Amino acid sequence: MTLRFCSLSSGSSGNCYLAGSDRTLVLVDAGISARQITERLKALGLKPEDLSGILITHEHSDHIKGIDTLSKKYHLPLYMNSATEEQLRTLCKYHSEMDIRLFENSGTFRLRDLDVRAFSVSHDAADTVGFALQKDSAKICTATDTGCVTEEIMEELTEADLMILEANHDEEILKMGRYPWFLKQRILSDFGHLSNEAAGLALAEAVAQDPRPRQVLLAHLSKENNFPEMAWQTVVNVLESRRIYLNDDLRIDLLKRDEMSGVYVL
Ligand SMILES: [Zn+2]
Ligand SMILES: [Zn+2]
Repeated sequence: MTLRFCSLSSGSSGNCYLAGSDRTLVLVDAGISARQITERLKALGLKPEDLSGILITHEHSDHIKGIDTLSKKYHLPLYMNSATEEQLRTLCKYHSEMDIRLFENSGTFRLRDLDVRAFSVSHDAADTVGFALQKDSAKICTATDTGCVTEEIMEELTEADLMILEANHDEEILKMGRYPWFLKQRILSDFGHLSNEAAGLALAEAVAQDPRPRQVLLAHLSKENNFPEMAWQTVVNVLESRRIYLNDDLRIDLLKRDEMSGVYVL
C-alpha cells in the first residue's frame, strides 16, 4: 500500500480531495466548508490535525472556501504558488496568519515521504496548477479546471496510476442551456473547463501512449451542464471509437458532486 485517495467533494460547487501515504495525508484544495471537511474526515476515522497540509490549485471559491477557517483553527501549512498567494491576500480574511509555503510550478518538492509536483493547467485564474503526488513508483495526478490538455498535462496524466480528470460539461447542453453568453464562452474557451469529450480524448491518448493499469476518476462535473451517466458514457464512447475497452487494467469511476467517494488504494 503506497498511496491512497478519497474525494471529499468534487464539482463546480466545491472541490476537496484527500490523498497521501500511510504517513502523510494532504488535502488537494479545500473548496467546501471547514465543518463539512471535518465531518467527512471523521467518517474516514481522521481529523484535521492528521493532515500535513493543504495543496491549493487556484483561488476560485470552489477550491478555497474552507481554508480560512481550517488554517486558523488547525494552523495547517498551505502550499501554493506566488500568484495564487497574491490573490489570497484579498480573498482570505486570515491571510496574514496563514502558514503559507510557496512552490514553483514544474518543480518537485518533498512533503515528508511524498514527492509533489505542481504543473500548469490552462484556466482563467492567476496561475492554476494540477498536482502529481508520487511515492515509490505509484503516482496520483489531478487535472481539473483546465480548458485544454497541454503537452505537460498529457505527460503527467500518462504516467499516473490514478488519474483524476475533469469531465466538466457536455458541450451541447452547455450551448443550449440558460447560462449567459459570456459564461458559455468562458467555459468553452481554452482557459475554461474540460468537456466530457475532451476528457475522453485525453484519456485515449494516455492509454495509447502507455498501457499501464490505471484507475480513472472523472471529476469536477458541472451541476447545470452535465449528467453523471452522460459524462461516463461519453468518455467510454470516445475510448471505444479508438478500440480501447474497459477491463481490469482500465477502470473509470465518477466522482459525484457533494458525495464522498470510496477510498482508492494504490
Ligand atoms: Zn476554477
Ligand atoms: Zn473549479
